[in-house]
Amino acid sequence: MSATAQPTSPHVMNTYGRLPIALSHGQGCRVWDTTGKAYLDGLGGIAVNTLGHNHPELVPALQDQLTKLIHSSNYYHVPGQEQLAAKLTEISGLTNAFFCCTGLEANEAALKLARKFGHDKGIERPEIVVYEAAFHGRSIATLSATGNPKVQAGFGPLVEGFIRVPLNDIEALKKATEGNPNVVAVFFETIQGEGGINPMRWEYLKQVRQLCDERDWLMMIDEVQCGMGRTGKWFAHQWAGIKPDVMPLAKGLGSGVPIGAVVAGPKAAHIFGPGNHGTTFGGNPLAMRAGVETIRIMEEQNLLENAATVGAHLKAALERELGDLPGVKEVRGQGLMIGIELDRPCGVILNRACDAGLLLSVTADKVIRLVPPLILSIAEADEIVAILAPIVKNFLSEPAAQ
Ligand SMILES: *Cc1c(COP(=O)(O)O)cnc(C)c1O
Repeated sequence: MSATAQPTSPHVMNTYGRLPIALSHGQGCRVWDTTGKAYLDGLGGIAVNTLGHNHPELVPALQDQLTKLIHSSNYYHVPGQEQLAAKLTEISGLTNAFFCCTGLEANEAALKLARKFGHDKGIERPEIVVYEAAFHGRSIATLSATGNPKVQAGFGPLVEGFIRVPLNDIEALKKATEGNPNVVAVFFETIQGEGGINPMRWEYLKQVRQLCDERDWLMMIDEVQCGMGRTGKWFAHQWAGIKPDVMPLAKGLGSGVPIGAVVAGPKAAHIFGPGNHGTTFGGNPLAMRAGVETIRIMEEQNLLENAATVGAHLKAALERELGDLPGVKEVRGQGLMIGIELDRPCGVILNRACDAGLLLSVTADKVIRLVPPLILSIAEADEIVAILAPIVKNFLSEPAAQ
């Protein structure tokens, strides 16, 4: 198999540069393609398949739910929403949740909360602070909040009301908002995912929390990718010992079943009233069951601890194998969210790893990203390194132009 981009499908819109394989089934951290070739899953469907594939407890629970109700409607109470909201507020220390189906929808809800928070205070043109290299989704509002010109190109006019600042620079944040009475919120990822696995420093998170308290801004943390146990705590910001006012979630929350949520603390939990926001599919019984079971199984199987331990092992092994090579700028991340930044674009590593039986991604052009299922074992982590290290070494020994 030669991993080059597939020809455009006659009927599916051409929105992705796809690898020339189709996956057919999986078990644990392994997947197989339609030709029977096996892969180790270092990508987890982009930080989605928390429990891996064909999990022996998740699948029967979903089968049970399918026979009961897939969808009802938000015209009625959905007991699964009560259950999942109770659990999410317990593990986050926040108070209320709204359910939707994707990450961008969770972020849209957060942006609407921030704007209405402003309007309720008499601010007619609310502004929200966002960050360089951020990724928040591809709807018109969330691509406007995203700090990547490639995501925005061709879709102007962008939504107004965003102020962009660099990461981890409290003085820059103060300066950008100085004397501006229209600021209502600061919105960021604890660890930027698509932007290249860029962490916010814990000290900075504390400083932003303090500034938000002083100025009555909402602190809104997009934990769509870094949340749900991936870093070894339920939510990555918990490493800094702070709490946001608004927290969008999605990706790993349903182990593969589409689901999103925005979880809010007291300052934001009662901004929306009936009629302010809604979605047809959000909070459906199947997705709620997936969320409840995912968290239950994570607790039962100590997957936070597993993500922390196996992640630290994987990062240390990658550092040992690759850290000193000229061409490797940094191995960084927390838990099972790891980036290896090279000094040059390295998209081809995705294809070569795929050929060698390892799924991963390359983001921000130069960063090899590993976001495997949280059930990854030490032996599987070692296998990732054994496949990936020679590929990176060979790649870096080639002439730089590619
Ligand atoms: C993936 C992602 C999104 C968008 O989620 P979708 O489900 O693709 O809409 C938003 N924010 C972050 C941090 C993400 O990683």
